Amino acid sequence: MKLRILALSFLFSHVAFSQQSKIDVLHYEYMIELNDNNDTIAGYAYITFITNDTTSSVTFDLSSINKSNKGMRVTKANIIKGHTSLDEFSHSNDKLIISSPRLLKKGEESNAYIYYKGIPSDGLIISENKYGHRTFFADNWPNRAHNWIPCVDDPADKASVEFIVTAPSHYKVVSNGIQTEETYLPGNKKLTHYKEDTPLPTKVMVIGVADFAVDKVGVVNSVPVYSWVFPENKKEGFYDYAIAKDILTFFVNYIGPYPYKKLANVQSKTIFGGMENAGAIFYAENSVTGDRSEESLLAHEIVHQWFGDMATEKSFAHLWLSEGFATYLAHMYMEEKYGKERFNNDMKAERDKVIDFVKTSGNPVVDSVSPYMDLLNTNSYQKGSWVLHMLRRQLGDSVFKKCIRKYYETYAGKNADTRDLQKIFESVSGKSFEKFFTQWLYTAENLRLDIRWKYNKSKKNIAITVKQLQSSGNFEFPLEILIQESTTSIPKRMIRTISKNSETFLFPVQSKPIRFEIDPNVSLLFEGTVKEIK
Ligand SMILES: [Zn+2]
Repeated sequence: MKLRILALSFLFSHVAFSQQSKIDVLHYEYMIELNDNNDTIAGYAYITFITNDTTSSVTFDLSSINKSNKGMRVTKANIIKGHTSLDEFSHSNDKLIISSPRLLKKGEESNAYIYYKGIPSDGLIISENKYGHRTFFADNWPNRAHNWIPCVDDPADKASVEFIVTAPSHYKVVSNGIQTEETYLPGNKKLTHYKEDTPLPTKVMVIGVADFAVDKVGVVNSVPVYSWVFPENKKEGFYDYAIAKDILTFFVNYIGPYPYKKLANVQSKTIFGGMENAGAIFYAENSVTGDRSEESLLAHEIVHQWFGDMATEKSFAHLWLSEGFATYLAHMYMEEKYGKERFNNDMKAERDKVIDFVKTSGNPVVDSVSPYMDLLNTNSYQKGSWVLHMLRRQLGDSVFKKCIRKYYETYAGKNADTRDLQKIFESVSGKSFEKFFTQWLYTAENLRLDIRWKYNKSKKNIAITVKQLQSSGNFEFPLEILIQESTTSIPKRMIRTISKNSETFLFPVQSKPIRFEIDPNVSLLFEGTVKEIK
């Protein structure tokens, strides 16, 4: 007995120094038991992983018991090696450290199993929906999964996952992947088993357990599309969410094959408006309106299935690779459906937001700010979207589409950062985007212009002077100018690449223009003033 205690203290003093030892999780299997009497969940996790370094212990994220007695209490945890196993672990400060009976070699595949129990303080929201019915909805973004499941709670460690949920039999269960089993158990319980073979980041691993009405909307390229809504909202919800089929069709054609085996759009209790959980998107309960007013929200979350879920940012500093993509490609879907004018108006409104935001933010888009919730800002969404928009305008629709497809194809199932995306745009287009990415994504300031023009009657031209006012150095960008000389003449367009702090150039005209317009096509993210010099 004493020996065991000695061994323990040795192990734990050792793990204190080797906590950094990293693992790469391959697969999570979770058994979760829920009940209607209280909010305690009972969990069992069977985790398959590879060690990146030789180590005698492995660390998982799992919230420990907090002051209000919420959190998870581990009752048993093992690393399984051969036929021996020790039952040694420590669990504090949201870290579960499990000792191995022998050294785990670098690159070796091992398993851990963990039994635990507790009331989740976050991550799995156990509450009532607006109709007063009890519901359970996982809500993991950004790193809240460890509040209810032991895991490596980092978007860079993707793994396949299965959930085996035992719950009172009146509930329906939705999760990632495909339902492989549904069995009624004694005591009015039901077991529901879902399996997702494609590796996911923990931020999009979920279960949703509630009384649901389920509609199969249709099939897109052999992917079934479902609507899961509260039974009281069946009529409105089935109507609203059915639009997902058209949205999915659009994005399959634009980006490439849908990454998962089904798409379920789920009315839920997420704290977000919508949450892009892989193959089981959770929307706020009020997203069901009966008038399809949340079409662009559905488009946004569906884009995330490719960008965010399947091609994932390496770290949250590059969150715009999720949010900027979802925002912009949702605009493109709306453009296809409702036309260019609406699209340009949406982009103008977004540009105004970006210009306003920079006045209070002072951070670039690629940003290691914490807490991560603070990254849910205009930089990640609207400015990220505008960056893609400018790339599209500069490269044209067809090259831009090639870049988007190539980026997805290259990083599907993997992680990428901003410079990885830059390299894709460079390899597809054959142009350098070094300065472009640096000025728009790694610079906090936006482009600020002072533009003046002067008509010279004798020389038959207009002299245009463009000054850059931002203090963080000159940007390089194409500036489009439209000039119309009379009500009956066709407007002339000129695109000039600006790179200097101040430059003047000439535009030949026959007469004094009646219209002088900067950026008529809504292609440049800038703020500025335009003045005529008389
Ligand atoms: Zn999003």
